[in-house]
Amino acid sequence: MASVYKNYIDGEWVESQATETIPNINPASFAHSWGEVPLSTAAEATQAIDAAEKAFDEWRKVPAPKRGEIVLNAWKIMEGRVDEIARHLSREEGKIFKEARGELMKTLNCLEYLGGEGRRLSGVSRESELPRNYAYTRREPLGVVGLITPWNFPVAIPAWKIAPALVAGNTIVLKPSELTPQTACDVVQCFIDAGVPKGVLNMVHGLGEVVGHTIVKDHRVSAISFTGSNEVGHLIYAEGAERGARVQCEMGGKNPIIVLADANLPLAAEATAQGAFGSTGQRCTATSRAIVHEDVADEFVAMLTEKMKGIVAGDPLDPETTMGPSVDRNQFERVLDYLTVGKDEATQVMGGQRMTENGLDGGYFIEPTLFDHVSPTARIAQEEIFGPVLSVIRVKSFEEAIEVANNVKYGLSSSLYTNDYACVFEYIDRIETGICHVNSPTMGGEAHMPFGGMKSTGIGGREMNEEAMEFFTELKTVYFDYTGAGRTSSMY
Ligand code: NAD
Repeated sequence: MASVYKNYIDGEWVESQATETIPNINPASFAHSWGEVPLSTAAEATQAIDAAEKAFDEWRKVPAPKRGEIVLNAWKIMEGRVDEIARHLSREEGKIFKEARGELMKTLNCLEYLGGEGRRLSGVSRESELPRNYAYTRREPLGVVGLITPWNFPVAIPAWKIAPALVAGNTIVLKPSELTPQTACDVVQCFIDAGVPKGVLNMVHGLGEVVGHTIVKDHRVSAISFTGSNEVGHLIYAEGAERGARVQCEMGGKNPIIVLADANLPLAAEATAQGAFGSTGQRCTATSRAIVHEDVADEFVAMLTEKMKGIVAGDPLDPETTMGPSVDRNQFERVLDYLTVGKDEATQVMGGQRMTENGLDGGYFIEPTLFDHVSPTARIAQEEIFGPVLSVIRVKSFEEAIEVANNVKYGLSSSLYTNDYACVFEYIDRIETGICHVNSPTMGGEAHMPFGGMKSTGIGGREMNEEAMEFFTELKTVYFDYTGAGRTSSMY
């Protein structure tokens, strides 16, 4: 049998006691698997929480700049392993190598920035209303935190959660996606080699319903940071709230690009193609709706289809490939189902089926697909598909474009293409997304800027930036009287 990925508990890589495993299937060639993922037991998740609980008292005493230094070491170590980790990422997730490297670069930026938070961790000092009284705030760690992560950014997301959690002085139990176990091991190994002490960072492979659920339900886990689907996120939020845990959930998107009549159409078409078909449409910030002014819609669709013809699907590690497969059978079938729905709901312009030629029938490959004349209320315009599928919705005005853009439950990212500055500022005022771009694609974000969504996409605070430090710390307010005399409360 292929080797079984190990858990990392209390400073050791340990074999799971799981009696069942699932294969880590190569999505580009599903007859092959890279290893076996253990379906770890609830007891193993509890052991990891025990270890994190035990390590907390010592770890919290390590000065924040020293904790930050360990994250900065991890940054340097990962920098030396970029190609190796990117290869693992391409192999198990299906992202093309160039994009996998891009994810690694983004991760390095996050580690660099968040490691530096060790020297910036601070509160505020305010003048007291009383004489000889020192009033200030300080940030303290929460304790054990649970990190539950998805497969689509299996390096960046665990890393951008681990780094602030560590710098803040928390100890961690990570439950990575069962679809990307190797990259999870790679990320953890960088932190181990960087000097994270025993018990401070733990990782348990397995199913969300078992390992994830155990972490969410354990009263010793003070906070949960989750990224993934809405279905699971809302469940975790409710379960966490029930026991008073702090919970942050970053979930799905249905990101629009609005193209007005005066837009630079070649640029808008290029940004749309990148956003819709880059990473096989499996980014939370992927462009899934193009809301286009009717005066330029025909021309825009023609430009887009030209670009789509140039997309080359295939082995993610082949430098000629520009689009990889769907991550697994579930995702593949889900996208194919939406293609059937789309054919009933709209006009299919390109694509519409799985790819079978040139050996692609052995992988989860789906044609880049474009639907036009999509109604804003159609299922393909409302529901997250998470594949290389774009819906073009034609509108008559800027007003209508904003209305259509906001008429979904999600609110992660958006983009507007125009040179009309009145429209730009109106859009920034009114769009209901946590991230909004002007004349640039819907995806992307910088490590020192907040990341996250509004409405059903995001609950519980933003990630990255100093916002991440807020989530992973408790605020304490201190009043220090140095009069040496008795004093009554200022309320009297
Ligand atoms: P998912 O919700 O299926 O799984 C995410 C994680 O939750 C996995 O580790 C899974 O094992 C775990 N999990 C599943 N059920 C659980 C339960 N009952 N209790 C605890 N944990 C459980 O999501 P996915 O398919 O891995 O990821 C794709 C989704 O993630 C898409 O919807 C995408 O939009 C979203 N996403 C959002 C962002 C963002 O920042 N907004 C970023 C990346 C991905």
